[in-house]
Amino acid sequence: MDFNKEKYKIYTWKNCLMLHWILNPVLAINELILGQRIPKIRLEDKTIDKSRFEKTFIPCPHCETFHDGRTWSIENGTAFKNWFGLYCKNCGNIIPCLTNWLSFLILIITFPVWGWFRKSLKAKWLEKQPKRYENIDIESVQNPFSKKNWIKTGLIWGMFMFLIISIGSPYFSGQEITWKTLLSGFVTWIIGGLVFAYIMKLFMKRKK
Ligand SMILES: [Zn+2]
Repeated sequence: MDFNKEKYKIYTWKNCLMLHWILNPVLAINELILGQRIPKIRLEDKTIDKSRFEKTFIPCPHCETFHDGRTWSIENGTAFKNWFGLYCKNCGNIIPCLTNWLSFLILIITFPVWGWFRKSLKAKWLEKQPKRYENIDIESVQNPFSKKNWIKTGLIWGMFMFLIISIGSPYFSGQEITWKTLLSGFVTWIIGGLVFAYIMKLFMKRKK
């Protein structure tokens, strides 16, 4: 698919935020548990004078529709559960997404377990998609990294990581959980969440 480079800035894995998605092992949790996915190609319309959040488009390589980036959002209930990729409501195909290296590794190692069900899982997932996109309302979507929202987003993400990594993971693998591991995990993830959200806030800001 060719894009008008005058009009659009094209983001691929070579962009540092996209690369971060591939390299940061923690994000495998977002990908595998939550089903949050990042498309391989994102476009930013340079002719629109708005924040990055409002001028991002995701092209479908199958039908060449440019979807507003806000189509996949918490408000619309479409931010997560996208395990097989981003569903194109126009043509029913899947928009290819990046894969985090750790998710990739985990998927390969566990393939003998889930590989048998891959086709039926995907068919079931696909069947549920059209309904999810029936009432998409782009205007209702708020930038999770706006001046008003970024702290909340960072804290929620930090808490989520804390629960999974400092409590869930040691609990299920039989490692010891102490006040010390809890406290250090809590501090690490809250700070990590806030730093991440702050970087996203800077990135999403309207360019002057
Ligand atoms: Zn499509």
